[in-house]
Amino acid sequence: MNFLIKPMLLVLIAMSAFSTVSNAQSKPPRLILQITVDQLRADLPKRYLHRMGDDGFNYLYKKGVVYTNAHHNHANTETIVGHATLATGATPAVHGMIGNVWFDRDDNRLIYNIEDANYPLLSKDADVSQKTELDPTQKTAKSSGRSPRKIRVSTFSDELAMHSLGKSKIFGVSVKDRGAVSMAGHAGKAFWFSKKAGDFVTSQFYYQHYPQWVLDWNSQRQPQAYANKAWKLMREADTYLFGTKDDQKWEVDFPGYGRIFPHKYGDGDGKYFTTLLTISPAGDELTAAFSKALIVNEQIGQDEVTDYLSVSFSSTDYIGHLFGSASLEMEDNLLRLDQTLASLLQFVDKHIGLNNTLIVLSADHGGADAAPYSEQLGIKAEYINPKNWNTSAAFAALHKRFGIGEALVKTYYHPYVYLDHSVIERHKLDLGEVEQAVSEEIRKFPSVAIAIPSTQIQQGNLPDSDVYNAIVNNHNPQRSGDIFVVFEPHSFINEMDGLVVAAHHGSPWKYDTHVPVIFAGNKLKAKQVSRRINTVDIAPTLASLIGTKAPSGSDGEVLKEVVKN
Ligand SMILES: [Zn+2]
Repeated sequence: MNFLIKPMLLVLIAMSAFSTVSNAQSKPPRLILQITVDQLRADLPKRYLHRMGDDGFNYLYKKGVVYTNAHHNHANTETIVGHATLATGATPAVHGMIGNVWFDRDDNRLIYNIEDANYPLLSKDADVSQKTELDPTQKTAKSSGRSPRKIRVSTFSDELAMHSLGKSKIFGVSVKDRGAVSMAGHAGKAFWFSKKAGDFVTSQFYYQHYPQWVLDWNSQRQPQAYANKAWKLMREADTYLFGTKDDQKWEVDFPGYGRIFPHKYGDGDGKYFTTLLTISPAGDELTAAFSKALIVNEQIGQDEVTDYLSVSFSSTDYIGHLFGSASLEMEDNLLRLDQTLASLLQFVDKHIGLNNTLIVLSADHGGADAAPYSEQLGIKAEYINPKNWNTSAAFAALHKRFGIGEALVKTYYHPYVYLDHSVIERHKLDLGEVEQAVSEEIRKFPSVAIAIPSTQIQQGNLPDSDVYNAIVNNHNPQRSGDIFVVFEPHSFINEMDGLVVAAHHGSPWKYDTHVPVIFAGNKLKAKQVSRRINTVDIAPTLASLIGTKAPSGSDGEVLKEVVKN
């Protein structure tokens, strides 16, 4: 008798212990909070962690699963490309967002990634449209309408919506329209900051009328609280790494804002007032404030159905462009972003509980240092302006070979050169041959490292390396241009909407692809993982964790440290 009962008891005890563990693991989080910091290169937060508090970046880096060797594996490391990749787990070859701007051969013009005239901006007063200062990519848009319709595959948030029969609440918030729309996916709702209105806005894709709480929040005019104030250093100047380097000659001297602290926002009616807010930590503070109001008013994370909120912080990108990542401005921005992040996480903890919230933080791309800064360290770096290239010899060579020169090229919007297919057809030329010949000429220009014809990409006979694979992953046959151009490392076009800027991103080099990927909260145990992972792994990992289908175009692997943790 004793013999029999004892083993049975042991089995029962073991079974109950097992079921407790599996219950804890199978209970889905109430909220997935996806945080994206625009242009946050992987090394940047780590440089300042020792001077940050416990509840922001340090909470994530010390309590989370931290991937220290995470990269975007596509070549055109721009904002929509990175966001769409984080959202879908697909490469741009598949999700179709190959650049902030591409040449649409049907429309015969450059188009902006999420423009959609069918879904005008939803506005209280009918004529509000986005101002475009410092955002070249929006100047190409024909209308202020926005939608996710050009994203060709499902996002993780779409899968969550399908999984829950539409019961999951799904939202994307950002200063940038493309930072919000991409992450909200096709089934969610997106809000972004209109510089013209000074409000958080949306489009008719999402709503016919603003929710009352959004009208109420906007009517508080929180941006106006920054009027006649300035972005000042948070601490004593001598405590900063860049404390004696405020005035670097390559930083942009924006009218009234200047290169040195304090950076004045000017009065609230100023032409550039709201633009200046976005080139300062204020843009992120407003994004966080709006997100908190959303959490309360939309009752995010208040029941058993998993909700999804994406918050994309844009200030780091604007500050990186104007001042460079090696600047006093970036240093102070990151210390302030840490506080903004901490206050958002504390808010989520209070209202939902971090144990019930799975956080994932990453970036849409990294960024290069300002070229003169790299040069100071002895690293070859250069600002490039293709408009200054002397193209006459190149076009003469093409003319000699094909009987036609300049007319072969339709447009060059970096990184793609688009050839004029109708001209090539009319002259009965072979597209692949013309692409090869034009690529050969482009390679002769200074600082061009690679110029690869699309026909060669499609044939697949390229070297097997990260850079070439990233170019292939960026190639969407319907949207990509005919030639992909890569400059030498640390060399880039330093222009944004006619403004000469300090730094840029957009290359397949590691400083542009290397981003943080951190999962935290939801009872995850801290772990550092140095294995190479790709940003396409994030969406399928979230899908696996919740038990949804993988997003339709996803190309990544499920991260075992997160799912098994
Ligand atoms: Zn970006």
